[in-house]
Amino acid sequence: MSIKKVMVVGAGIMGSGIAQVCIEHGIQTVLTDISKELADNGKAKIDHFLQRKIEKGKISQEVKDKAISLLTTSGSYQDGADADLVIEAATENVPIKLKIFAQLDEIMNENAVMATNTSTISITKIAGATKHPDRVIGTHFFVPPPAMKLLEVIPGILTSDETEKKALAFAEQIGKEAIKAPDTSGFLVNRMLVPMQNEAIFLVMEGNDPKAVDASMKLGANFPMGPLELTDFAGLDTVLAVMTQMYEDLGDPKYRPCPLLKKMVNAHLLGRKTGKGFYDYTKK
Ligand code: NAD
Repeated sequence: MSIKKVMVVGAGIMGSGIAQVCIEHGIQTVLTDISKELADNGKAKIDHFLQRKIEKGKISQEVKDKAISLLTTSGSYQDGADADLVIEAATENVPIKLKIFAQLDEIMNENAVMATNTSTISITKIAGATKHPDRVIGTHFFVPPPAMKLLEVIPGILTSDETEKKALAFAEQIGKEAIKAPDTSGFLVNRMLVPMQNEAIFLVMEGNDPKAVDASMKLGANFPMGPLELTDFAGLDTVLAVMTQMYEDLGDPKYRPCPLLKKMVNAHLLGRKTGKGFYDYTKK
């Protein structure tokens, strides 16, 4: 019952990381994006991270070559239509995800599990774009996917027990610790984590130094990374999309996205992926 072939849709921060996890666990993987070029950029990132692992003495060249040989890239979902599992990791946007799932539903084989890596969007809502909601489930990885142990597994209201079992078995296959989470906005982790990141941004808007905000949580709460460093790492656009969705879903003013976060996204200060966010990554 193990997963032999995976298609990952979206080759950004998360999609490329998820594809890396899959190939490092011996699973044949097709990485797709809206163009082959974008999928190839994702593959280049994976190549770079595996090379760094060789340099640190964590893996051999042979292990890297074996992993890379399992990875193909494509600009068309059709190339992964025979996969046992598709994991959607495209931009956090409801219309984009609904369209992708409607398309996947038409082409994937009838036993394939259709999973989404959404950070907040209702799994039940995404499943509603398909004729097979029983095969749709949330598999929520954390950034960076190769390093983070947790996989939140989120069944929608119509997800079958079989699909849930397959998702839990997949977590084990790729060496992740699965926690079943409810299909409510933000699931478990983001319901707690993202409002905290948003609050840190309010503190910056009120004139506090980002370094002091981050250092306070690292030294005072033993966080390995400050909330603003994490926001830069995850992408400010994604954090804003999550906050906006949580505010819409839960309705409580405490989830109101910070105006500074909106301003920074409008200015394309998206964090590491654009070189600048709360910190500047363009200078070495
Ligand atoms: P990203 O912006 O780095 O990458 C998104 C990718 O999706 C881009 O390469 C884009 O071209 C591609 N894409 C857009 N529309 C597409 C389509 N129709 N078909 C195929 N590809 C398409 O974003 P990310 O940070 O990798 O986030 C991806 C998903 O993972 C989102 O749902 C996000 O909420 C979730 N997520 C993000 C994090 C994080 O920390 N960044 C953590 C957990 C989950």
